[in-house]
Amino acid sequence: MSDECIFCRIVGGELPAHVVYEDDDTIAFLDKSPLFKGHTLVVPKAHVVTLMDIAEDQVEPVFRATRRVSIAVRSAMESDGIFNAVNNLISQSVAHLHVHVVPRNKKDGLRGFMWPRHKYQDDSEASGVALRIRQCAADA
Ligand code: AMP
Repeated sequence: MSDECIFCRIVGGELPAHVVYEDDDTIAFLDKSPLFKGHTLVVPKAHVVTLMDIAEDQVEPVFRATRRVSIAVRSAMESDGIFNAVNNLISQSVAHLHVHVVPRNKKDGLRGFMWPRHKYQDDSEASGVALRIRQCAADA
């Protein structure tokens, strides 16, 4: 719990939020500036900044809640699909882990939302990058 953190203050009931789901480990509430109506944030109650900081036994509760809230938002908003996203440090405006649950529809205008793609020079460059990540994953 951090006194400075707005999401901790929502968890603690000090700041208002439109809560749509809550369990022992997580809370989910409407984003105050939604990409689309129904845009929800799933937040672990314990203060952690990024997905990389979360305790391993907290991963399952957060993704269980994300699954449940994604089903609920899709159903409630009658959307074609759902976009889930986590900004970690870069583009992260609130320093408390949150999973975006955004209702998506065909031709909703977010087609260009994903960033420009970059090609590997060749298969050998891709193999080198994959090797580096595999080695780091073994230590993570
Ligand atoms: P990000 O930029 O990925 O860190 O996302 C942070 C999100 O939190 C943004 O979409 C904001 O609109 C949302 N947000 C910030 N403050 C509040 C708040 N008090 N209640 C609900 N959503 C918030």
